[in-house]
Amino acid sequence: MIYLDHNATTPILPEVLEAMMPYLTTEWGNPSSAYKFGAKLKSFIETAREQVAELIGAHPLDVIFTSCATESNNAAIAAALKANPAKRHIVTSQVEHSSVLNCCMALSSGEFTSPRGGVKPPLHEPGYRVTYLPVDREGLMKLADLEAAITDQTAVVSLMWANNETGVLFPVERIAEICRSRGVLYHCDAVQAAGKLEIDVGKVPADYFSLTGHKFHAPKGIGALYVRRKAPFSPLVYGGHQERNQRGGTESVPLIVGMGKAAELARKYLPDFEKKVRPLRDELEEGILSTIPGTELNGHKNHRLANTANITFRGIESEALLVLLDKEGICASSGSACLADSDEPSHVVKAMKPESAASRQMIRFSLDAEGSKMDVAFTAAAVARATASLRD
Ligand code: PLP
Repeated sequence: MIYLDHNATTPILPEVLEAMMPYLTTEWGNPSSAYKFGAKLKSFIETAREQVAELIGAHPLDVIFTSCATESNNAAIAAALKANPAKRHIVTSQVEHSSVLNCCMALSSGEFTSPRGGVKPPLHEPGYRVTYLPVDREGLMKLADLEAAITDQTAVVSLMWANNETGVLFPVERIAEICRSRGVLYHCDAVQAAGKLEIDVGKVPADYFSLTGHKFHAPKGIGALYVRRKAPFSPLVYGGHQERNQRGGTESVPLIVGMGKAAELARKYLPDFEKKVRPLRDELEEGILSTIPGTELNGHKNHRLANTANITFRGIESEALLVLLDKEGICASSGSACLADSDEPSHVVKAMKPESAASRQMIRFSLDAEGSKMDVAFTAAAVARATASLRD
């Protein structure tokens, strides 16, 4: 298998599994228990909190463990709205992950059709006005659009750091400064940035950052939300006193320990990540763009993650190409894995190139620093064979 879908999920590293093993086997107590067998587990949760905090330059007390980034995104937006009951306006972008877009759509109408179909029930009291900022053909947003969108009714801005489909980066530092100067809370979905770029909450003054473990070699089912000390927060999940009353539910010690260890490793490997992955990605991208006719890059050439290549193959349905690649043992995707079961086009590429069919004819390759040149060469050749046969 050649796995080129690391923006969808990543394998658990052996060191991460090893760190988790005691808590899956012998150390199975409840950290909230009064006796030592359970209570001693608290310190391992706190070590993991420190490890996650270090990955983003935060204080551990400002990190809350959640079940995933979908929960973190929903919790941050809900907390910001709850703290500003008189303000009924949200600003986000057309290219956010479905966990932000669908949350906003539910808030605006109560019921909604997601960008890729399917009606979902209401999440909160509906009636919020939502501005979905556009992006240009390269996936970049204009800060002037953000400035113009914010009004005295705006409670929260939710704009991601790195796009999961194209890798395109938003200017989060400037966004945070604008929000701060306008007195608006800023939530940043930093899921795709973690482990791929330096995240320093000291340099990007956002109020909330969402993370999820499975994008940087921790297991699925564990996420985190950073909440800046002075930013308002109220739980999305009410329950016991866990997470200092900020998120009810018995802590999953193995998953939390796994995320902590993965964060520590991500920090260690970060200085080399870009150096290793960029040449591989560029070779794959060049191999495809220069040899296969009717191909086009989606996303700004430079201003994007070093591991992501999103390419349109004109005249070829994404799904048909993916099936042929799968037959050759190559795993890639036509966008977000969370929406892969719908046959709607990519809402991200559609926002960038609304007039063209590019959003139905694209493949995302997302690589890892440990990939090999041989796999890249094999993939470029397999893509050339598959596109030739589909065009025939
Ligand atoms: N935000 C972005 C940008 C993502 O890529 C993803 C996952 O694909 C999520 C949020 C949701 O993460 P999770 O699967 O942990 O809920």
